[in-house]
Amino acid sequence: MSSSTFTDYAISDPIIKAIDALEYNQPTPVQARVIPKVLEDKDVIVTSQTGSGKTASFAIPLCEKVDWLENKPQVLVLTPTRELAAQVSDEMKSIGRYKRVNSVAIYGRQSFMKQKTMLKQKTHIVVGTPGRVLDHIEKGTLSVECLKYVVLDEADEMLNMGFIDQVSAILDKLPTSRTTMLFSATFPADIEGLAKKYMINPERIQIETVGKAPQLITHHVMEVEEGSKLSLLSDVTVAENPDSCIIFCRTQERVKEVFQYLDERDYSADLLHGAMVQEDRFEVMDDFKRGEFRYLVATDVAARGIDVEDITLVINFDFPLEKEKYVHRTGRTGRAGKSGKAITFMTSYEQKFLEEIREYSQADIQLSNPPSVEEVKANRTAFQEKMEAPVVLREEKREKVNQDIMKLYFNGGKKKKIRAVDFVGTIAKLPGMSAQDIGIITIQDNHSYVEILNGKGPSVLKVLKNKSIKGKKLKVHEAKK
Ligand code: AMP
Repeated sequence: MSSSTFTDYAISDPIIKAIDALEYNQPTPVQARVIPKVLEDKDVIVTSQTGSGKTASFAIPLCEKVDWLENKPQVLVLTPTRELAAQVSDEMKSIGRYKRVNSVAIYGRQSFMKQKTMLKQKTHIVVGTPGRVLDHIEKGTLSVECLKYVVLDEADEMLNMGFIDQVSAILDKLPTSRTTMLFSATFPADIEGLAKKYMINPERIQIETVGKAPQLITHHVMEVEEGSKLSLLSDVTVAENPDSCIIFCRTQERVKEVFQYLDERDYSADLLHGAMVQEDRFEVMDDFKRGEFRYLVATDVAARGIDVEDITLVINFDFPLEKEKYVHRTGRTGRAGKSGKAITFMTSYEQKFLEEIREYSQADIQLSNPPSVEEVKANRTAFQEKMEAPVVLREEKREKVNQDIMKLYFNGGKKKKIRAVDFVGTIAKLPGMSAQDIGIITIQDNHSYVEILNGKGPSVLKVLKNKSIKGKKLKVHEAKK
């Protein structure tokens, strides 16, 4: 953490209020360096790990910078994965909550039409994966004319995943007078090319050594024969008895196999891999974040950028063959100043990759013995107790920002010629209400949603049941989420 506070920056009260509600008490080092630059509209290249608070380092100044009155998107964030797009968009909405900043996430394998409808609403910020964003730009459903800020998040991974052409095609279509921010945990040469071509005098901000694994993690490698990995997994989980653990595997088949092994032994577990439909992927991540289950078996899909609080143990069931993957996988623990442990299973064939990973990650990776029979035995009771303990759900910090918001549903929209101002006009005039108490308004063809902030939802709902909007009597009730 740095010694400055968020109030040192030119950030307005509604944003500060959200930062407080999220319990971000002090800027992290990356935030202390990036926020002032973005507030000055400077291009930046930031080399920083996930877990360092980098999302908020751009979300805070960008929520500050957006002009609320403008209806067309002003900020575009590109991310390599759909999960990350959803997560970044949520962070934008949380930080921009009291300024009523609307952020929309768009990505593949979700209905294009649904996204088109969302983009027709007042949208300040768009977060998406490159393919789908390009698709919307080319079809004219995402307007770029007012875009002033572009963020390339996890840029190295976007390039690794082969998105370079799409990223370039998108950048070619954007207004040239803009601020461009590039974030990357690692810094391969192609990023230089991208920076040279699309950025103006970028300031380089390097928070940690390239690829450096976070400090608060202890790193262990255990030698194992391929055929003994499952029994080693069993011993390690008993000996470590983690509250929350991710187990990384190389392939989907392997994920299923490991999950099945744990499931048969009544572990509180679930699985995540790229072939699952998007809704299921989100559901699994959300359940894991809330603490509904303790062991997540995943392919590298889950390794990038995903922010789950309090993961105490990462197990590399399959050795990561790319050095970057080691850093990203183990970076799922030891987040936001907490400590964690990473245990990597290594077969004799894989030994030759270890030195390279050590050098790249700069982590002190210790060769450790598997847990002894005595150790496993001694921990068995505690392990069993935790297995049988009732689930304690975590309250997500974001939920705190949302708790005093009520979303109202109205059975009228565009077809009844209702516009956002009609809601604002009626609601802001109610006793004890002002425009500041109204959140995001969404008008669709036949219905509309209006968020009421600051805990005033129930009283507003009561009064509106007997009021008309633009002379029309609409049915109103609390919206189902
Ligand atoms: P990121 O690096 O963006 O993935 O963020 C890692 C985690 O740090 C997230 O859970 C954030 O909610 C949290 N975070 C971000 N900024 C701060 C801050 N200034 N103080 C405490 N936690 C923070």
